[in-house]
Amino acid sequence: MKNIRLFKPCIGEEELNFIKEAFDRSWIGLGPTVEKFEKEWSNYLGGGFSIALNSCTAALHLALKVFNFKPGSKVLIPSVTFVSTAHAVLYNNLEPVFLDIDEKSFSLCVKDLKNKITDDCVAIIPVHNGGHPCEIEEILDIAKSRNLKVIEDCAHCAGGNYKEKKLGTYGDIGCFSFEEKKVMTTGDGGMIYTENKELYNKIKSFRWCGIDRDTWKRVKEQDRNDLDSYHWHYEVTELGYKYNMNDLAASLGRAQLKKLDWMNSRRATLIKRYNQNLLGFPFLKQTFQYKLEDSAYWLYSIRVKNRDNLIPYLKKNGISTGVHFMPIPLHPLYEKFNVDIPNSLNLWKQLLTLPLFPELEKEEVDYICKIIKNFNWDKKDIFLD
Ligand SMILES: *Cc1c(COP(=O)(O)O)cnc(C)c1O
Repeated sequence: MKNIRLFKPCIGEEELNFIKEAFDRSWIGLGPTVEKFEKEWSNYLGGGFSIALNSCTAALHLALKVFNFKPGSKVLIPSVTFVSTAHAVLYNNLEPVFLDIDEKSFSLCVKDLKNKITDDCVAIIPVHNGGHPCEIEEILDIAKSRNLKVIEDCAHCAGGNYKEKKLGTYGDIGCFSFEEKKVMTTGDGGMIYTENKELYNKIKSFRWCGIDRDTWKRVKEQDRNDLDSYHWHYEVTELGYKYNMNDLAASLGRAQLKKLDWMNSRRATLIKRYNQNLLGFPFLKQTFQYKLEDSAYWLYSIRVKNRDNLIPYLKKNGISTGVHFMPIPLHPLYEKFNVDIPNSLNLWKQLLTLPLFPELEKEEVDYICKIIKNFNWDKKDIFLD
């Protein structure tokens, strides 16, 4: 009996070796490995500044907080995303404005963005949904003309490019997730990237209780000058959070970053295999118009009209599936922010995510596709367009 997971982290010897270094040093909190990982991440993305955190949810929270927006101001976000994108808005006493999705990209619809912008909007959080790059250039143009900040939610697309520039380097701030299921992992973890030094300095103190120097720096200064009796001294001016990454997680991150490009290209190979099997099959559509050359796709997502029968059938055949995502205004917490999002409300019911992770075998993809084709399809479920 097969048992194919939906996601599976790609971890092994390399990660163990990096963790062993942290053990040998006996420093597993906020320390030198976090700093190394941040430097490597900055170099990988394009030379800006990076701040390692314990989640992307924390990253999104701080990315909005650093601008100190007036409470009650509005933030434009796509309706089909993980709840953290919206939670970050509420954490900051701001109000989410949900945008409909574009049927072709399943990211925010630029036309709807233009419709829903008002003078009390202060920021946009575009999500590169599933790893598929959203229309970031158009979004930046609109943001510039209306003086809005842009925070890219890159939880799905670490390592992905758009026009040979890394996603997460287009907006004012990019937020990444290293949660267990995402394209690379530190167990739990997140990263902020920005090319603005001032934003970087502020966020850095927010991530550790509002303290402006981290523990490791204090130790270093103490070593350098053991006559300095003020090595313990710090001052807090901001109500910060306990959001820092630790050296154990950063050890995993350094090993994962080394193989991120390989993992992304491996996923692209598997997506090609899915497409070879499934393109043209009349009972399903692709959710994304995959551009596989230099992107980082997290999801292999299809659209089917009878998802709710297909899911248990696939489960019976040992194939795990998921749905990414139910529109956020359908969650009770966000009901009161409901607005007109017709595409999101119609199309999300067709979404189905199939297994995708670097160590998935091509033969397993073939098996999944064969099982899907053998389903008892009903003529009325054909896509006619
Ligand atoms: C997973 C996810 C997050 C949150 O990431 P964590 O690291 O789990 O906090 C934020 N936004 C999107 C779109 C996500 O999918």
